[in-house]
Amino acid sequence: MHKNSVIEINQSAHKKNIEFLKKTYGKKVILSSVVKGNAYGHGLVEFVKMAYHNGITHFSVFDVEEAKIVYDTLKNSVTIMIMGFVADDDIQWVIKNNIEFFVFERYRLAKATKMAKKLQQKAIIHLEIETGMNRTGFEIKTISKVAQYLIKEKENIHFKGLCTHYAGAESISNYYRVSKQIELFNKAETIMKSHGIQPELKHSACSAASMMYPETRMDLVRIGILQYGLWPSPEVFVTYLNAKKTKNDPLQRVISWKSEVMSVKRVKSGEFIGYGTSFMAKDHMKIATVPLGYSHGYSRSLSNQGRVLVNGQRCIVIGTVNMNMLTIDVSDIEHVKKGDVVTLIGTQKNLSISVASFSDYSNQLNYELLTRISKTIPRKITE
Ligand SMILES: *Cc1c(COP(=O)(O)O)cnc(C)c1O
Repeated sequence: MHKNSVIEINQSAHKKNIEFLKKTYGKKVILSSVVKGNAYGHGLVEFVKMAYHNGITHFSVFDVEEAKIVYDTLKNSVTIMIMGFVADDDIQWVIKNNIEFFVFERYRLAKATKMAKKLQQKAIIHLEIETGMNRTGFEIKTISKVAQYLIKEKENIHFKGLCTHYAGAESISNYYRVSKQIELFNKAETIMKSHGIQPELKHSACSAASMMYPETRMDLVRIGILQYGLWPSPEVFVTYLNAKKTKNDPLQRVISWKSEVMSVKRVKSGEFIGYGTSFMAKDHMKIATVPLGYSHGYSRSLSNQGRVLVNGQRCIVIGTVNMNMLTIDVSDIEHVKKGDVVTLIGTQKNLSISVASFSDYSNQLNYELLTRISKTIPRKITE
């Protein structure tokens, strides 16, 4: 743990987001909180504790490592679903502890069956269907066979879910592709039904799909970015605003990231600042250094672009972001000194830095920037 910066996660902001989402989806839809990527950088242990406190009892992770952390933190009080990687060596632990997991190929289905038999405990699986993302999942033409297999192995396999994932529901430009996926997914269910077998739950929606295609909500939604208070893309946000005829963002950012001024100095006009020549002072300037860099997850792509807040004013990152340090322009801030709070994400007075505020082009950057925030930065839950 280092003291260069601190991440705060706000309990009441998350609570409001969850309330909004539950109201949007209705009581019948299970809300699974997606916490892969260290809970999108928020800090997995702290975040799931807080989310549990806010009424979340279903978590989706990517792999066994994350599942173990959630399990160690909350034990059997919650459902844990692995959407991605399970190494063969880990299947035993997964089944033993009733961890649910996606199965997207015959190999894993066979492995799960074998281990379930050995343990005399059912494997709880979510059968993933390939509907057009072309990443993972059973092809439609294999569904009949799989259905028969599941019927044969029903003593070993608990067919909990039928699921898929959409390839870009956050952009209208993918409308045709996503619509095709929804169609194919429904077809998979129909094939299953024709064999007399049905999953307990059907699920397909991530944040974007849950907003853009309400029919994808089904029995459960897998919600990442929205619960953290961010929109999957500007398009999804605008679509929401138009539909609701409102101008108010119902979401609140959960994360704040703060550091401090390490030193302040003056630079003469015409001097270059930092490595190389990417920034030249056009006037006499006052600059401040902040003890944070790309090794902590402050992306190098924010060189000469990032915005931070100091003493209630917005400042720009100048020069390249270094491994452990960055430089900001504080020329316009009258009083600035060593130790002043530097807000990288969050609010000071009436100004705010949302995660992607430096880039209007791609909100996908939200995901990347959040997950890059170093695990070694201390996380603190605030009210
Ligand atoms: C990451 C992920 C989600 C959540 O995505 P958001 O856009 O953050 O809501 C849902 N489903 C799967 C399979 C995922 O990998």
